[in-house]
Amino acid sequence: MTKTTTHEPVITIDGPSGAGKGSVSRAVAKKLGCRYVDTGAMYRAVAWMATHDGLALDDEPAVSALADRVEMTLDDQTVLIEGHDVTSAIRTAHIDAAAARVARMPAVRDVLVRRQRAYAAAGGLVMEGRDIGTTVFPEADVKIYLDASPEERAVRRASDPAHGLGRPKAALSSVASALEARDHSDRTRKSSPLVKAGDAVHVDTTGTPLDGVVEQVLDIVRQRLAAAGFSTHFI
Ligand code: C5P
Repeated sequence: MTKTTTHEPVITIDGPSGAGKGSVSRAVAKKLGCRYVDTGAMYRAVAWMATHDGLALDDEPAVSALADRVEMTLDDQTVLIEGHDVTSAIRTAHIDAAAARVARMPAVRDVLVRRQRAYAAAGGLVMEGRDIGTTVFPEADVKIYLDASPEERAVRRASDPAHGLGRPKAALSSVASALEARDHSDRTRKSSPLVKAGDAVHVDTTGTPLDGVVEQVLDIVRQRLAAAGFSTHFI
């Protein structure tokens, strides 16, 4: 008998900074008609608001209470905090570092993971981050782990206009060392470190242009959704 699946798909895309998660996740979500959620933007939004409110970034009770109450609206293009458009403001070098700091705090993660899970109630989802396939949705229908060489990730990050606002044009070596410091923090933190889920498909994007990566990921997603019995609407 043919297997059919009644729930809507949850697809997770994890990996380090500069692996191409944002562009790939957005394109896959669009193709499948699913919602796209950038969880890095949620950690960034909390870091931005905490800085704005003058909170100490190591004050775990205060920052987690803020993460719980702050109103965030995310769509595939913009991030609003309490109604203000902070899409560019959360992508400065200062917020890169501040987001990685708040992301180390278990109480902040607990709050944001709960908020991230709530998105699945509203239908099909492509969610990107660091711990989506391991912690947020361990039962996800398809899990992808995107990676690329550190050199290539630094080149991509240095030329990404979304991360360029208000930054002096940094030497590639300084982008590379900031990226390395953030990756180290993400991989070594105690709470939900960046690690590939055992059942995630590893996709190395080094040397492959974005279109090619999107096609490769879409092929994997479609195959897995078809095997799991999803309706052709998603395939
Ligand atoms: O993906 P992005 O670089 O915007 O993420 C910003 C920071 O948020 C990361 O450096 C990481 O520390 C944190 N993050 C996380 N877990 C996620 C998504 C992002 O810890 N699921």
